[in-house]
This record gives sequence, structure tokens and C-alpha cells, in this order.
Amino acid sequence: MAKCAFLGLGVMGHPMAGHLAAAGHEVTVYNRTASKADAWAQQHGGRMAPTPREAAEGADFVMACVGNDDDLRQVCTGADGAFAGMSEGAIFVDHTTVSSAVTHELYAIAKAEGFGFVDAPVSGGQAGAENGQLVVMCGGDQPDYDMAEPVIAAYAKLCKRIGDSGAGQKCKMVNQICIAGLVQGLSEGMAFAEKAGIDGRAVVEVIGGGAAGSWQMVNRHETMLDDKFDHGFAVDWMRKDLAICLATAEEIGASLPVTALVDQFYKDVQSMGGGRWDTSSLVKRLKAFD
Ligand code: NAP
Repeated sequence: MAKCAFLGLGVMGHPMAGHLAAAGHEVTVYNRTASKADAWAQQHGGRMAPTPREAAEGADFVMACVGNDDDLRQVCTGADGAFAGMSEGAIFVDHTTVSSAVTHELYAIAKAEGFGFVDAPVSGGQAGAENGQLVVMCGGDQPDYDMAEPVIAAYAKLCKRIGDSGAGQKCKMVNQICIAGLVQGLSEGMAFAEKAGIDGRAVVEVIGGGAAGSWQMVNRHETMLDDKFDHGFAVDWMRKDLAICLATAEEIGASLPVTALVDQFYKDVQSMGGGRWDTSSLVKRLKAFD
């Protein structure tokens, strides 16, 4: 069993850290809002630390799941950042969805200071985190990955190294690109069914298992038809992720016309007050712009 630190006890981090403790690892948590760390420690019996540095001191593995590039820099660097407390040979595992630029920057610092850095963004959402069934896509040095993988297994149904540092984040970009167009297509289908006067549930029952089927169709058609979006993966997070995808596409010369369009549709959803709505709320925008 390993000594682990977990930084960021949000929707994702709280249950992920809980799975580490349940697997028998010795876990110290840090959260910017200390009351959440206190609640986690009471529930799971681990320790809480007042700064990322103190959480990282003496840990074999330091996991983080915070918000964006700047948030990750804040918990890693500076006098109270985790990097100031990392032991030589320890491994930092970043589960935040961030750019590959910040990943390269932090990987380089980690290597210079004698510890490992694995980028390890996740998919599977809140339910995947709570059930310990996340998919984890990794980048970094093979020996660091090999050491981290059995610990990550506490909350993963699948964990794979895609390549060198940044490859995990690039894989997550592909995931978000594939989702964006798909959710818009599903929204158009559901809105079309309604306009055509046919029962969307019956439609999905018939087509859901065929070539048009998808995780989104199975798991989101009901709530789309019920006009419920107070759950799932927030539009604000999706726009953060799509901004990373579009900036990277610009750098590497990839074409993302549908992703760019859907990103603008999500901007409309934000202006409708839907920043925290699930990404399937594209259907609400379609109906509003009818
Ligand atoms: P969340 O519920 O908003 O939690 C964010 C966590 O990060 C909180 O613990 C927050 O602390 C902490 N944090 C944010 N900025 C910070 C800073 N500058 N310094 C220190 N701590 C900071 O977010 P989440 O849904 O868990 O998502 C976390 C990451 O996972 C994001 O990158 C997201 O894109 C990715 N992700 C999310 C999902 C999902 O379904 N939610 C799925 C896949 C990937 P406070 O408690 O003090 O605010």
C-alpha cells in the first residue's frame, strides 16, 4: 500500500480520493475550501493538510483533480505548492483536464527536481468517479506510469498509457472532439422527433441499439426529452475543454469545423444561463432558437 496525497476534492476528486482510502492506501487530502477536506477526512478517516506542499510531503504519489491550467499551476508551484513538498522518486499524477502546454511545463520542472509527472485525465463523469469506473488516459515516462497504474486502479475500469508526456491530455481532446458533434446530432434528432410528432422514447428504443446508438443516446435521451439538465458534465467545463482542443488544432494544423461550431452553440447555452447545465442542453438551445 502506498502513501498518497489527493489535491482537489470536487465532484470528481472527492470520490476518487475515497476509493484510494478504501483500497487501503494511506491518504492525505488538500482542498482549497478546507471544510470539504475536513468532511472528507471525517468520512474516510484520512488526514487533511492545510497546503498542497504539506499534503505532498512524504507521499509516494500525489494526485490532483482541480479546474484548469491556472488552477493546476497554483496547486503545483510556489512556496506552498505540491512540488515544494515532493520527495525524490515520488510521482505526481494529474487528473485535471488541462492543455498539453501546461503539462509539458510541469513535467519539465518535475523531471529537473527528481520526481515523476504523469498526465492522466479521466472520462466517465461523476458516476464513473463514484463507482470507481473511470477511464484514465495517460502520458509520461513508462517507468513512472508503471508505478502509478496499480494505484490509479482503485478508481479505474481502464487505464492506459498513450505515449510521452502530454499524450494523455491529447487523448482526452480526441474524446471531447468526438462528443461535441455527437451531442449536437443527438439534440437535432430528439428535437426533430418532437416536431415530427413521434415519441422520442419509442424512437430510441428502436434505433438505440443500431448504428445511430451511442452512450449519449442511451444515457441522455430521457433527460433531454424531460428538459432536465441539472446533472452530468457542465457546459462551462466543456467550453474550457473545447478551447484547449481548438487551440491545439491551430498549433498542429488540424481542422475542427464541427467542434468550432458546437463550441459557439455552447456559448449560446452559457448566455441562456446554462453554464452549469449538462452538455446535453444543446437541445434546449435548439428549441430556444427555433
Ligand atoms: P469541481 O467539482 O468544480 O471541483 C474542482 C476542485 O478543484 C475543487 O476541489 C476546487 O476547490 C479545486 N480548485 C479549483 N481551482 C483551484 C485553485 N486555483 N486552487 C486550489 N484548488 C482549486 O470540478 P470537477 O467536476 O471535480 O472537475 C475537476 C476536473 O476534472 C476538471 O478539469 C474537469 O474538466 C475534469 N473532469 C470533470 C468531469 C465531470 O463530469 N465533472 C469529467 C471528466 C473530467 P474548492 O472546493 O475550494 O472550490
